[in-house]
Order: sequence, then C-alpha cells, then structure tokens
Amino acid sequence: MALEKIDAASLDSATTVVVATGNAHKLVEIRDILGAALPGVTFVALAQLGDFEDPDETGTTFAQNAIIKAEAAVAETGFTAVADDSGLVVDALDGEPGVYSARYAGVHGDDAANNAKLLAKMEGVADAQRTARFVSSIAFIEPNGLVTMGEGTCEGMVGRTERGDYGFGYDPLFLPDDTPGKTMAELTPDEKNAISHRFHALNDLCDKLAARGTDALAAADEGAEQGGAAAAVDAARAQATEPEQ
Ligand code: IMP
Repeated sequence: MALEKIDAASLDSATTVVVATGNAHKLVEIRDILGAALPGVTFVALAQLGDFEDPDETGTTFAQNAIIKAEAAVAETGFTAVADDSGLVVDALDGEPGVYSARYAGVHGDDAANNAKLLAKMEGVADAQRTARFVSSIAFIEPNGLVTMGEGTCEGMVGRTERGDYGFGYDPLFLPDDTPGKTMAELTPDEKNAISHRFHALNDLCDKLAARGTDALAAADEGAEQGGAAAAVDAARAQATEPEQ
C-alpha cells in the first residue's frame, strides 16, 4: 500500500494528527481506532509530509521510545503527533528481546534471524516457563508539549516451531492466550487486530483522550493556558522511565 505525498500547508494544525510511521497498515489501524475518539481529525503519516530521518531509539522502555518518535514528529511538522513502540517480552529470558525486539539478532528488521535467535535461546525451556507478552506503548504529543500515553499487552507463550503466513516479526512463534492452539501468524489481520497489544494500547489512549472531552486537541490548548501541560509532560516522562514488565 503506497502512501501519497501531502502538502503540509494544505492541512489545518487544529484538526491534523501526524502518525510517526511510514507503514500504511499502521496508519489505517491507528486512524480507525483513534478516529472514534477524535471526530473531525485528519490522520496523515509522517512519511506523507516529507523525507524525515528516524530518530535514534535510545530509550530503555517502550514508552520512552514512543515519546522520542512522537516528539521528533512534532518538532519536524509542528502538528500533533502519535507514535508507537512495541516488542516481545519473554519471562524466561528476563524480558528479552524487549526494546531490542526489532534488532535482537543484530540487523534491524531481520525477522528470520530474530526468530532463530529466540528459538535457540528457548531451547530446553519447559512449556510452563514459556510465557511471554507483546507490549505496545503509544505516545500522543501535542505542539504545546502535552503527552498522553496508551499502553497495551497481548499475553501468550513462545512456541517451538514457526507456524503461519500472516503478520510479521515474532508472530509465527507467538501463541496468544486469546486464540488457543494458533500462532499470531495463523490469525487473519482482522482476528489479530481484535486482540493485539496495539489494539489494546490504542483503546487505552482513546479512553484517556475521550475522558478529556470530545475535542481533545482544543482541551489540550486550554490545559496549556492553565499551566497544566508541563505537569502532564513530567508525569508521562516519570512513568515512561519505569522498567518494562
Ligand atoms: P516496532 O515498534 O513496530 O518498531 O516493532 C518492534 C519489533 O517488535 C518488530 O520489529 C517486531 O520484531 C516486534 N513486534 C512488534 N509488534 C509485533 C507484532 O504485532 N507481531 C510480531 N512482532 C512484533
């Protein structure tokens, strides 16, 4: 799915949210779920507004990395931005691969090598100890600095062989508790989207935005006028520094 370029000057900053991704599927998923909490808002992918370099993901938690990506998008565009960071947390490996999920075997995005490394590390681990979860943190940051976070998990276990053709990443090795006997890669996109960590994180974010009223972006402006934004940013950052799990 190719993303068409958009002239940023044609967009209204009061009703535009930039999704810090070049992935069209993530744009659609985020737009579908967040659009319900933000009626009248236009969602555009960062890559549609220009060629921006990805910031270094130097955080030690998913939340920190989501904030780094969203903050960079706000700085580059001046619009409200939303970004997610996600990965697999395996109990028997003390939380590995965690924030290093995309580059577990060394090369960013080499899913086959990452899965091979995970299988090798889990060799000899009994079924009862193979528990794991996908984790997603989503940061929604407005130009006034107000940060709203969404968090979600999908519990399951690490399988012993890769199965399934859908999805990406660790999907062929992950058996969600919600779909007994099936790996995440054996679920259709709709089935996965109904139980995934990103789905839960987006809904959590929706709830928090909806709690601020239907016009969340305008509410943020008011918060800034009342001096509430700085406190909200500090609180979000403090939470983001807590270790994963
Ligand atoms: P990112 O947050 O999209 O950069 O994802 C980080 C890495 O976590 C991916 O490269 C995958 O290895 C893993 N990951 C995140 N979400 C999923 C998922 O839904 N299925 C499988 N792997 C995932």
